[in-house]
Amino acid sequence: MTERFTGSFTQQEPIPEEGIEAALRVLQSGRLHRYNVEAGEEGEVALLEQEFAAHVGAKYCLAVASGGYALATALRALGVAPGDRVLTNAFTLAPVPGAISSVGAVPVFVGVTEGLVIDLEDLEAKLDQSNVLMLSHMRGHLCDMDRLMEMCDAHDVHVIEDCAHTMGAKWGDTPSGRHGVMACYSTQTYKHVNSGEGGLLISDDDALMARAIMLSGSYMLYERHLARPPAEAFEAVKYQTPNISGRMDHLRAAILRPQLRDLDRQVERWNDRYRIVEEALRGTPGLTLVERPEQETYVGSSIQFLLLDWDPAQIGAVLERCAARGVELKWFGGPEPVAFTSRYDSWRYAPSVPMPATDRVLAGIIDMRLPLTFSLEDCVLIARIIRTEVGAVWQGG
Ligand SMILES: *Cc1c(COP(=O)(O)O)cnc(C)c1O
Repeated sequence: MTERFTGSFTQQEPIPEEGIEAALRVLQSGRLHRYNVEAGEEGEVALLEQEFAAHVGAKYCLAVASGGYALATALRALGVAPGDRVLTNAFTLAPVPGAISSVGAVPVFVGVTEGLVIDLEDLEAKLDQSNVLMLSHMRGHLCDMDRLMEMCDAHDVHVIEDCAHTMGAKWGDTPSGRHGVMACYSTQTYKHVNSGEGGLLISDDDALMARAIMLSGSYMLYERHLARPPAEAFEAVKYQTPNISGRMDHLRAAILRPQLRDLDRQVERWNDRYRIVEEALRGTPGLTLVERPEQETYVGSSIQFLLLDWDPAQIGAVLERCAARGVELKWFGGPEPVAFTSRYDSWRYAPSVPMPATDRVLAGIIDMRLPLTFSLEDCVLIARIIRTEVGAVWQGG
């Protein structure tokens, strides 16, 4: 009998009981807006910001409506204007070039390596085209952050980190998001903490964070924030900064705070699953694993491997055979963008020149989610199915 996996690749764990209780308290209070607090009350959103800042070791944090909103806010805070160019990854997801486009700026795409990180040689060649890099740690892969920062600092390029897939990750001892001048996280359902929608933005820079808080729609209530720059920083910007509403509310913050306290344990659980799949796929003929650098502490909430230089029809066959056995794989090489999967040439509003080396890598990237609702036994089964089906097509091809 052919083994079949019957779990769901999009099923997350329930919100922790403590989060549900906190959410009920917010609902019962009727005070959902972040500035709707009683005298002396700090509020769930301000507390979440304070706790997240402490968690990553940042001075300031702002909670907002989504990860994409955080990215656009970071660009606005840096003064990126219509027509400006912004460097970014060719391998990322649509909200990244979307955020750049939302401020009227133009993405300049930088290639991807077989290690699935930004190609630093390509970046070096393009660093004189912009003074901002929106660096997407796509699917949790961190490039050599020391070298990247050295290169960007030498060219006075400001780095905004997109940490949608690296909440909980580190390069050496430095948490992901602590290299750039600002960093953005998503708390959307498919990321590492789940409030349905939501985003977090961190920085140590007084002027940037004062602008970001004003931009998010703080009115003149910014003093209620706990992880904010001193009042003087706001004096300098409060008449000059438009309100582009995108606040987080107490309900979502209440759900997130207990999840944040549990994040380190969840990272361990993701990595237990990741390592099982990785080890089981190691040595599969025709399949290239993405080896993780020693300096990288990653969060294995998804796994990628490459079917490099395969005939697209053969890759299609692997996807179909795995799907028939309940294993959902995503492919970045398909001719059309599908679901969440798209690539730089799918974003036709943004000009791009073909990048053959990047196209070769993208054409081979297979991506799979590893939700925490999968047991370790599920992971063993899933990996066995992939190994068998890749092997069958490889031998047949
Ligand atoms: C999810 C995601 C975002 C944006 O997050 P939202 O909260 O969905 O707006 C940004 N970058 C990447 C790589 C993402 O996967």
